[in-house]
Amino acid sequence: MKDTFKHKGLRQQLVNVLINKGINDDSVLKAIGKIPRHLFMDSGFLDHAYQDKAFPIGADQTISQPYTVAFQSELLNIKRGDKVLEIGTGSGYQTAVLCELGAKVYSIERQQELFKKTSKFLPKLGYRAKKLIFGDGYKGLPDEAPFDGVIVTAGAPFVPKPLLSQLKIGGRLVIPVGEDVQVMTLFIRKGQKEFEQEEFGEFRFVPLLEDKN
Ligand code: SAH
Repeated sequence: MKDTFKHKGLRQQLVNVLINKGINDDSVLKAIGKIPRHLFMDSGFLDHAYQDKAFPIGADQTISQPYTVAFQSELLNIKRGDKVLEIGTGSGYQTAVLCELGAKVYSIERQQELFKKTSKFLPKLGYRAKKLIFGDGYKGLPDEAPFDGVIVTAGAPFVPKPLLSQLKIGGRLVIPVGEDVQVMTLFIRKGQKEFEQEEFGEFRFVPLLEDKN
């Protein structure tokens, strides 16, 4: 688990790429500048770790593109101490970004293989989520609700109702919605039954799957 001077340099270049693509939240850029993304990837892809691209992480899943991670993190608008639920732990890279932003992170993953691997790996890097859960993200996490923020890191064919109902008033849900292509959508809870909704263009994610295998 090495993080060299060269990696740091490549990371700074990646931060510059994200700035050029329009990311301007300093705390998000700082997190991406700090987290050793190469350690979250299979060894075959190490050389590509600091390109702005998604890569396979096993179990037919991918580590999200850095731009997408930054964009979703920016939309969540996290303050230190916020309680945040992530759906789709995957490699844990987005989880690490949320930890760097000072969030208390709860993250759900439905693939056991990834859940086990990432549960071991994140603490080794010093990232301690409040809870990593093996389960179905469509249900959210009713025992720990309400949340200041909920982030979905897989393409959702529809917006799961529990994720909306588990938001605090003023809380934000960032979710890519659609089948083949997804529209990044932000919901802000304004009242018990009122939600403000805004759309932010198209992205491509692996699908949010319903049944466990
Ligand atoms: N945040 C991850 C992205 C991984 S890709 C990262 O930065 O690496 C999306 C992840 O969502 C995959 O790991 C996939 O297994 C998981 N997933 C798919 N459907 C799910 C569901 N219903 N509940 C929880 N996780 C799910």
